Amino acid sequence: MAKSKRVLFQLECTVCRARNYTTQRNPDNTKDKLTLKKYCKHDRKITEHREVKIS
Ligand SMILES: [Zn+2]
Repeated sequence: MAKSKRVLFQLECTVCRARNYTTQRNPDNTKDKLTLKKYCKHDRKITEHREVKIS
């Protein structure tokens, strides 16, 4: 597959729902929604962030 289809995602804090990070990846690689442990500057601690599709 030479096509690279990239989709923008934001990572939303599951605690305060702030969208702290923007990322992009190929949705064909991973079908599942990711949850990542990331630092939230609003909560000022590591929280779970889940992917939110932008477009
Ligand atoms: Zn937060």
